Amino acid sequence: MRSNPRLTLLSDEDRGELSGVLTRVEAAQVALAAAEAEQARALAEAGAFAARLAEGSSAVVRDRDMALRGVAAEIAAAVRVSDRAVQRQIDSAYTLVNDFPATVHCLEKGLLTRAHVAVVEDIGRRIPTGLKGEFDQLAAEICLDETPGRARAELEILAERMHPRTLTERHEEAFRGRKIVRYTIGEGMSELRSAHSSVLIEGIFQRVTDQANAVIAAREPGSGDTRSLDEVRADLFADMLLTAIPTNDPTGDPVGPGGRPGGLGAIKAKVQVVIPVMALMGKSDVPCDLAGVGPIDAGTARLLAGNSYDTWERLLVHPITGLTMAVDTYQRTTAMDRFLKGRDKHCRWPGCRMPARKCEVDHNHDAALGGKTEICNLCCLCQRHHSMKQFTAWKVKQLDGGVIEWTSPTGRVYIDNPPGHGVHFTPEEDLPEDVWANWTNPGIEFRITSEHPDDPRIPPPF
Ligand SMILES: [Zn+2]
Repeated sequence: MRSNPRLTLLSDEDRGELSGVLTRVEAAQVALAAAEAEQARALAEAGAFAARLAEGSSAVVRDRDMALRGVAAEIAAAVRVSDRAVQRQIDSAYTLVNDFPATVHCLEKGLLTRAHVAVVEDIGRRIPTGLKGEFDQLAAEICLDETPGRARAELEILAERMHPRTLTERHEEAFRGRKIVRYTIGEGMSELRSAHSSVLIEGIFQRVTDQANAVIAAREPGSGDTRSLDEVRADLFADMLLTAIPTNDPTGDPVGPGGRPGGLGAIKAKVQVVIPVMALMGKSDVPCDLAGVGPIDAGTARLLAGNSYDTWERLLVHPITGLTMAVDTYQRTTAMDRFLKGRDKHCRWPGCRMPARKCEVDHNHDAALGGKTEICNLCCLCQRHHSMKQFTAWKVKQLDGGVIEWTSPTGRVYIDNPPGHGVHFTPEEDLPEDVWANWTNPGIEFRITSEHPDDPRIPPPF
């Protein structure tokens, strides 16, 4: 096949068109980099402003944190991001601007991209304070000539050379940052990540892989088990974490004659699921609500429904609005508490999704100032936002129907509506007794909340 001359040798016209596009892309990149540098400087200034607000106070540490939270919340509400995320952005911008000025300067001039800066920040974090200036200069120079990926490799070597402490010492420190975190990734799925010593993570991965391979090898022909290696690994991982008992349990007596097992093994998972009765019976497949997390599919909810009738917590939900009307108990204080958790489902700070079971109950109009202990003056706030309401200039007022009105320190108003449920059903028949007792799952104790207003088991509202 003959080569296309238009591709092998560009005409003046083609060359002109292409360089026009190129110029635009370059200009956009320069503008973007400059804007990102400006955003970092503005966020860093917000951090410095918060620090100045708290200066001279007797409770400097608490006040500085509160001032920072207040400023972060003001920015977060205006740009519709969570205040925790903005606080992290402020922290990271403050560090970037103060520790890596040469890198920020190059970003501002459009000589580097945000991706280069992220590499410098990431690796520069490990450099001790006194050496950060030198690292910043050298890192910016390396980045000028390289893509972020290649620059990372060079910066890793640079950081290792500059570091005055051994890897052993640094690992000891990093090890104190071990943790697990979870993220929702949509479609009723979440991701669990663990940062731990590489040796242990490798051991966990190898063990679960070997076990999964053994499960697959032991399959009888025609067993119908078609799970992939990934699926079997994930199932084993969940199974072991939900049902196994830790070997190291400080709640029990030392192992030996007369030693009793500890209590860690008795601690079961507790999750609140809002499941319509018809979905529980398998007669509909509407999505159910994993409180504070998001929708899960009806099949999973049914599978997970525990067999313990006592642990089911049922909510009466308005068939049209989906707002919680009452809970199935007459006991006043507990009832109110459960009502609030059912109505709010999560912290009522604008944008916060901390599940209600981890929240505190706030008197919107302070009890000390005459605020009454009534549903229309109470709402769920997580510990972070509860203390922010107390210690910063944010003001709260509860309107009709559980609507919360927030006023920011600069006077902007944000409305937080109570969460509702989208889909509701009318019963076609009464619920047989065995429907309520027929699901078993030893690993998880599930609280099932019925959102059916005509559920015969639920006593009339108080
Ligand atoms: Zn919150």
